[in-house]
Amino acid sequence: MAFEGLTDRLQKALSGLRRKGKVTDADIRETMREIRLALLEADVNFKVVKDFVRNVREKASGAKVLEGLNPAQQIVSIVNDELTAMMGESAVALNKSPKIPTVIMMVGLQGAGKTTTAGKLALKLKNEQNARPLMIAADVYRPAAIEQLKTLGEQIDVPVFDMGTDVNPREIVKAGMEKAAELKSDYVFIDAAGRLQIDEELMQELADVKDIAHPDEIMLVVDAMTGQNAVETAEGFNDRLDITGVVLTKLDGDTRGGAALSIRAVTGKPIKFVGQGEKMTDLDIFYPDRMASRILG
Ligand code: GDP
Repeated sequence: MAFEGLTDRLQKALSGLRRKGKVTDADIRETMREIRLALLEADVNFKVVKDFVRNVREKASGAKVLEGLNPAQQIVSIVNDELTAMMGESAVALNKSPKIPTVIMMVGLQGAGKTTTAGKLALKLKNEQNARPLMIAADVYRPAAIEQLKTLGEQIDVPVFDMGTDVNPREIVKAGMEKAAELKSDYVFIDAAGRLQIDEELMQELADVKDIAHPDEIMLVVDAMTGQNAVETAEGFNDRLDITGVVLTKLDGDTRGGAALSIRAVTGKPIKFVGQGEKMTDLDIFYPDRMASRILG
């Protein structure tokens, strides 16, 4: 990720304050105006920006800050804290079922990186916990999705259950869950159907799969580069499926940062991982505090 534009503008806004010996309410208003514009330009959701600015203003305008030893430094620290809070405070781990298997249903629009991320997560669990995952190929609509998952499975040495593209995904998932029981898999990844956009048929199918598989984690995969569209997508999936976590992909190509900064605040659901490249190892835990520090530069 390289949110240079945002970092530059925030630094500029805050360095104005740093140059002043004494900070007034008017200075804070001006700084907040610049920060507000910087966030909007980074494509952060307008309501999230409004709440952020209000929170910082409330905390920054008290006499304690203005008359304190280093008001500018204190304001930088308030901005840092609020940016962190906006993204969810601390990292949230993958849900885990008390008994095997833990079922992770991967959902998202076509091209977001759902299939790739299923492979990345399976590999991560295999490497870090010696896990034995099974991946179920239930995306029967995107041409080549099943072949892609099978190729990934071979590459990372994780079994893939598939029944081709002519079988209803509900049946595939049922049979796949039986396969997982037989293999004593400890994690099951369901690569569920994607579409170019949210539609009723897709949502109904995903709701049915959810009923069949009782997932411990409904992981929405969204493309960071699509900014506010990613946020709208997250709202749409969350309203219908009550997602439990988000993976933000293609952060390596995101120059603005709007999705990373808005999704948690808009949906209330945590970003658990970020994709930072096409390789199977390019998946990282999302740390809101580290991200806030990086954004502030
Ligand atoms: P799906 O339709 O949601 O299953 O999407 P895919 O998993 O097929 O991914 C679509 C494209 O995005 C592929 O070319 C992936 O290699 C690429 N991709 C996925 N995640 C990332 C990421 O974090 N960074 C980059 N640069 N590319 C990614």
